[in-house]
Amino acid sequence: MPEGHTIHRLALDHGKALAGQVLRVSSPQGRFEDAARLDGLRLVRTEAHGKHLFYVFEKSRVLHVHLGLFGRYFAAKSPATRVRPTTRLLLEGAERSFALVGPTACELLSPTRRRELLARLGPDPLRPDADLDVVRAALARRKTPIGQVLLDQSVIAGVGNVYRAEALLVTGIHPERPCKDLSDDQVDALWATLGRMLQDGVRDRRIITVAPEELPGPRSKIRRKEAVYVYGRRTCLRCGGPVSKLTSANRTLYACLACQTG
Ligand SMILES: [Zn+2]
Repeated sequence: MPEGHTIHRLALDHGKALAGQVLRVSSPQGRFEDAARLDGLRLVRTEAHGKHLFYVFEKSRVLHVHLGLFGRYFAAKSPATRVRPTTRLLLEGAERSFALVGPTACELLSPTRRRELLARLGPDPLRPDADLDVVRAALARRKTPIGQVLLDQSVIAGVGNVYRAEALLVTGIHPERPCKDLSDDQVDALWATLGRMLQDGVRDRRIITVAPEELPGPRSKIRRKEAVYVYGRRTCLRCGGPVSKLTSANRTLYACLACQTG
């Protein structure tokens, strides 16, 4: 599943290409019936919160997209020709078009439902309005292991399986450490690390968590297995020791138990 950096990147790219324009909005597949209610309206702005993407149109109409496991966008020049028949949503601007296939959610949200959805999401390290105190308070009252909680979007929004493993490695935190036992310094370091990794992901358009001085070559040429410390690896890039595969929140959690003793 895409992590928060992918969704923020989409919000930036789609906002740059489409905001301020009157859009043609359709659903070639026919499953997004409310497309007609957005067709011919001006897109005011786009924004992301965690893994949720929002398009704010005039008349306060808000389109909500969640890619889920299989959703993806295809970009093309306008007018869009040769659109896949499975396209749930087609956004056509003056020059660029974006076709969405296979999302978990593609829906028009009322202001009330939008508020309800946002209320269920924790702070997003990529958003300037993110409040670290809210995260601190949420962790302080949980006995649950931090590895499990990092995938809970109601605590921190936008973190997925790669960033949770990598941020825990970089901060040296054992994934089974109960949240409430983390020190203030550990929580601060974890938050800062997640924020930095996600920001790099938005910029790089991919996940590279390894520090510049530890990369074996130019950033643009790094292979996938060299771009991470533990995720999907057999040995830890930092210490060379074996990587453990734990199960946490029903997903495989990669960890180096030699590096992660905190
Ligand atoms: Zn290690």
